Amino acid sequence: MFRCDFMGKDISELPLSSFFDGIYSMKDDIPNFKMLIGGKWREAQGGSQFDVHTPIDESVIARAQMARLIDVNSAVTAAQENRGIRDLPGIERIDIFNCAAGLLERHKDEFARVLQMEAGKSARDAAGEVEAVVHRLKLTMEEARRIFGDYIPGDWSHDAVGKMALVIREPIGVVAVISPFNYPLYIASTKMIPALLAGNSVVVKPSSSNPISALLLVRVLEASGVLEGSLNIVTGKGEEVGDALVKHERVGMINFTGSTPVGKRISQMAGMKKLHLELGGKGYALVLEDADLDLAAQKCVYGSFRFSGQRCDAVSAVLAVETIADDLCDKIVREVDRWKFGDPRDESVMAGPVINPAAAMRIHGMVTDAIEKGARLLRGGKYNGSYYEPTVLDDVPMSSIISQEETFGPVVTILRPKDEDEALEIARQSKYGLESCVFSRDFYRIWRVAKKLECGEVTVNDCPSHGVGYFPFGGIKESGMGREGIGYSIDEMTNLKTIVFNLEAGGLGKREQEAAMCKTGVPKKAGTWHENGE
Ligand code: NAP
Repeated sequence: MFRCDFMGKDISELPLSSFFDGIYSMKDDIPNFKMLIGGKWREAQGGSQFDVHTPIDESVIARAQMARLIDVNSAVTAAQENRGIRDLPGIERIDIFNCAAGLLERHKDEFARVLQMEAGKSARDAAGEVEAVVHRLKLTMEEARRIFGDYIPGDWSHDAVGKMALVIREPIGVVAVISPFNYPLYIASTKMIPALLAGNSVVVKPSSSNPISALLLVRVLEASGVLEGSLNIVTGKGEEVGDALVKHERVGMINFTGSTPVGKRISQMAGMKKLHLELGGKGYALVLEDADLDLAAQKCVYGSFRFSGQRCDAVSAVLAVETIADDLCDKIVREVDRWKFGDPRDESVMAGPVINPAAAMRIHGMVTDAIEKGARLLRGGKYNGSYYEPTVLDDVPMSSIISQEETFGPVVTILRPKDEDEALEIARQSKYGLESCVFSRDFYRIWRVAKKLECGEVTVNDCPSHGVGYFPFGGIKESGMGREGIGYSIDEMTNLKTIVFNLEAGGLGKREQEAAMCKTGVPKKAGTWHENGE
């Protein structure tokens, strides 16, 4: 039986400095976090809470409030009634976020440790997530300065001659942010920050698995000067708190990242609200005959194992064409053996546990199903609590669940299509359409494959990676709608408004020749044939 090599250390207290005083109280040596509603850190009405477990050893590291409908209503009302951020000059909003960047940098080690404990991230992944938030914040501030619009002169259309329009971007109002467990700080920040910079007020609902880093981020933004009531956070179960936000009539937009089933439910419940849905994916890596196999093996393993495979852009199936499949498989196994999994507090560990034992059991169900249907297990295939062994499955049949569904665990799943066409057929039949990648040295081949793949992003000679969203990303089909990224997120969280000016009233603007002709007798329009032959 696979045993994780625990470091034998107790999970120490959350490393919170006095800066975070006031957002939690200690009970039985466990911090009980409050929620920010209408500018005050409060407990839920009725006072119920839920435990937050660390995936490292499943112990309870914190408690969070179990919000009720009345708390959700208070948060949305506060956001609706405190839309002062909309009228705050952009330059002052930038000042607030500059201050937030400084505070985040000052507290980055605390954030990284919290991420390690609440999400089970390796030291490198946790520090990387905090750095990505700071970097993304800075880039978003630059982009916010470009919330411009368009000037459209009307004289290129007969019905608009004498008019002009300004097309401006306006905040939507109240944006509900619902975020997942895998990047609990980064994903929440990529929604909150552009929403606020664009002048929206926000209600955030983080994942119940690990809400702490999002609560700390809200504290940072509050301390940086985000106006009272413009930013609120409620914690609690998705089916209750999330649902209530989605259905709330005063919420103007839902910005959601999470699984496809929940995303589908949201789209059914939301009514006429604006939606941005970043959902699940099945990232295929197509490795063609002329690929650099060393590079492909290294990237496929990295793409499958990074954060124990718990990434929407993970390499979720390797499509190795028959002629190179044996070679690629050998190289993949050698690469896998280099990866050290275990307690993420050990600095040499490259990937830690999955989010909880239930997730490990779900992954195991998919691995077992594939083996029963004929796949060959080359490495791993066992688990212990939340720790799933790094696993390699070869010759996985299309009838297996893992060939079609998102894995979200540390498994390299290898399928062996006979050629490029069959590989494309497998990828294109997927219900998901988030990302895929292709490994080849032939430009025309790469272009052909990239054009034929049905997804929001194709990466060439690397595994997909959203990074800080410098390149836009997002899904099609069951992977969602809308685009995330620097600038694109602001576009998603603003509405276009067209303001048309009739300039004739002021004696301005171009006039149609028709009108001019009445006075001059000059023919109606150049190039127009008149029946009387004029
Ligand atoms: P999840 O189970 O769908 O949960 C996501 C969020 O939705 C959580 O805050 C959850 O709250 C909440 N929620 C649950 N039920 C809800 C409901 N009925 N109404 C409203 N909100 C509800 O997803 P997850 O397991 O946390 O995250 C993993 C998934 O996210 C994967 O499928 C992954 O591919 C996807 N993801 C996609 C992207 C992308 O960019 N496309 C990025 C990252 C992750 P609770 O925690 O309280 O249940």
